[in-house]
Amino acid sequence: MCIFCDIIEKKIPSTAVYEDENVYCFNDINPVAPVHVLVVPKKHYEDIIDLASSADADKVLGDVSRAISKVAEINNLGEGFRVINNCREFGGQTVKHIHFHVIGGLKLTEKMI
Ligand code: AMP
Ligand code: ZN
Repeated sequence: MCIFCDIIEKKIPSTAVYEDENVYCFNDINPVAPVHVLVVPKKHYEDIIDLASSADADKVLGDVSRAISKVAEINNLGEGFRVINNCREFGGQTVKHIHFHVIGGLKLTEKMI
């Protein structure tokens, strides 16, 4: 269905960081920080607007939050990190399968907001 679906199905290789029944977390191929993990619901939703219209939205976002917490723990990010979701063209989204960037491993200084 899309490149992230292929990664989730292990048809394309990736470096897994954490996985459970509903979420797959793997290293970004083009990291912007020492830790740059993509947290991806296994079910395909194009973006957060698409997910919001699904009956599964509450469950998926709960699963995502727990996976983010695991990724933070695995990578010793207790001092903090950033979670980014790029949505659609103006948000800079390039892969149309909802995902959350977990970025950390250093003090993030460049703030847009
Ligand atoms: P976005 O621009 O928010 O849609 O994020 C897509 C992210 O997917 C980018 O940071 C890419 O570096 C990353 N990416 C694309 N292809 C792969 C891949 N095969 N394995 C890991 N990360 C990838
Ligand atoms: Zn997909």
